[in-house]
Amino acid sequence: MDSGFNLVRILLFCEDEEKMIKYFMQRGVLKNTMNCPKCDGQMKRVNSFWRCWKLIKGKKGKHQCQGVVSIRHKSWFAKSKLPMKTIMAVTYMMLYNYERQAIAWELDVNLETITNWLGFLREVNIPTTIRTKPQEGERAALGA
Ligand SMILES: [Zn+2]
Repeated sequence: MDSGFNLVRILLFCEDEEKMIKYFMQRGVLKNTMNCPKCDGQMKRVNSFWRCWKLIKGKKGKHQCQGVVSIRHKSWFAKSKLPMKTIMAVTYMMLYNYERQAIAWELDVNLETITNWLGFLREVNIPTTIRTKPQEGERAALGA
């Protein structure tokens, strides 16, 4: 997250959920494919969810699986319940050493939640995708 991003760009970019999802899929932060946790079938993405409609043979005949998981499943974003946009902004602000109180105030999130997430961020590796600057083609998409 060097020169391509600043706080305003992050927030604007994350406004467009589809664009944000595609960007993170391209860069491997979100999974490109998902297997259903119920039946292991290939799931289809519908907006911010993976869904499964596989027909399954059961004792009472065939039924549809209807498995569903969030787009964040098994990704770095799954570690928090905060919106992805807020996670991005908190991460950015942490990398630039903003005070906890400032992060909580600017993003309208309570201080305890911010403290927990910052603790988590110190323990894990922030995906390099998120901390490094976007590639040439991506910079245009980000408005950078
Ligand atoms: Zn399924």
